[in-house]
Amino acid sequence: PRADWAAFADSLSPVEVIDEPVLVKKRSRDFFWYSPVLNAQLKKYFGDLVAVPKTPDEMRYCLQRAFEADVPVTLRGGGTGNYGQAVPLKGGLIIETTKMNRIIEIGEGYVRAEAGALMADVNAALIEQGWEMAMFPSTQDIATIGGFVAGGSAGIGSIANGALREKGNIIQLKALSLEAEPQEHAFDAEAALQIHHAWGLNGVITEVTLRTVPHRNWVGCMATFDSYRDCYAAGYALAAAPDIGCKLASTVEARIVDYFPRLKGHLREGMHLLVSLVPAEDMDAFRALMAAQGGHLDLAMSDAERQAAKLPHVFEFAYNHTTLQVLKADRSATYQQIGVPDPSDADAVAAAGAALGNDVWQHHEFARLDGRIAAFDLPIIWFSDEVRLREINSIYEQHGHSIADAHTYFVEGGGLKNADYRHLAWKKRMDPKGLLNPGKSRAWEKVKHLSAEEIEAKAKG
Ligand code: FAD
Repeated sequence: PRADWAAFADSLSPVEVIDEPVLVKKRSRDFFWYSPVLNAQLKKYFGDLVAVPKTPDEMRYCLQRAFEADVPVTLRGGGTGNYGQAVPLKGGLIIETTKMNRIIEIGEGYVRAEAGALMADVNAALIEQGWEMAMFPSTQDIATIGGFVAGGSAGIGSIANGALREKGNIIQLKALSLEAEPQEHAFDAEAALQIHHAWGLNGVITEVTLRTVPHRNWVGCMATFDSYRDCYAAGYALAAAPDIGCKLASTVEARIVDYFPRLKGHLREGMHLLVSLVPAEDMDAFRALMAAQGGHLDLAMSDAERQAAKLPHVFEFAYNHTTLQVLKADRSATYQQIGVPDPSDADAVAAAGAALGNDVWQHHEFARLDGRIAAFDLPIIWFSDEVRLREINSIYEQHGHSIADAHTYFVEGGGLKNADYRHLAWKKRMDPKGLLNPGKSRAWEKVKHLSAEEIEAKAKG
């Protein structure tokens, strides 16, 4: 039956479908082209049909039909993932969630929304009631809350509130199984980690409940420094400052800042940049800290001032948006995800930078992981070939850094689901035929013939 996509599309009625080949192809891609390695591997894979359910009932209906017809199913929110998470390697049905987007409930310290809700909409609704998301990715204008939980890991706010996986951040996920009669399971707190960052392999998330925090009046700040070492040191000092409750601290080398045309005229030329979001009431302390660290505060804007000046959000120069700004000008750039061993050691960070060579430009993000300050380098890398990419990884490793490889489409690759068979036991329960996002887990290929209990036993052993 899989060859007859017209008949399969009819069977989904009354659910909206997209069968126009150009549109289906567009929805088969995400931001994997950030990586030339992934681009070469993934650009030839496309789905066959897109369904756009508007309600969880319509979603359930699509899953039922797909199960009956043995059709592979790849979920898609905004399609902003960087690792080809949403690319249907075996073709089949793409289910786009963006119309299943109700914000269901806003309460004290939480928001409950359907998986396809746009994070910018969730944040806007929260702010009206005095709250905001504890963290969100810099793609909030395109990305869905379900896609964030299924494909993301941290974001703006993580410097105060930790990574998504940390206790209290994910309150509950509801997910449907892919069976003859899809069942809805609720995963609370810790249990939700079996679904989080599993790329839609382990169930179809219908509803997400996340922690929220009281809204504050954020000032978008840009400070500049003469050396990257001092800029990084100021970033760390900001992250560690007990009297400044910032929710973003990113440091960017001057060579990268050159690729930010929209900031020309607003920043001192040729300088290294610290990007941050600081609560209005902490601005005096922030100003004093920047001066003490040898920085110059070039820009400090409330959101209204930013809009009046027609400038982007400051976070569009942070996280993976930094990379995007460079890629807009030159597609030969790429990046990597590097853990800094001792975030307080600016000299060691500068030494690693010096050892890397002219094709690697540093950019650090600060976050708080399990209560401790962590720093990640998301450098711009001028790609030559995979051999050089591996060499760059090994230079970082020689300097004690860790690599969460951004150039693999396997769920085990980035580090969060490494050899964790527990989440695969849930996959077996939620997706017994292995139809959800096939081809993305190496470990699944080793255990798929086992029962959920046997897989769980493997996890314990
Ligand atoms: P998609 O890309 O559509 O999907 C992501 C994965 O989740 C896919 O595997 C998909 O199959 C699966 N999925 C989607 N919906 C469901 C569902 N309902 N049920 C089950 N599985 C589902 N990430 C961060 O964590 N922090 C950042 O700060 C950040 N910044 C970024 C900046 C840029 C410029 C770019 C391009 C990416 C960035 N990312 C970041 C990665 C990505 O944007 C986020 O993780 C985003 O939240 C993904 O949401 P999405 O709706 O686009 O998901």
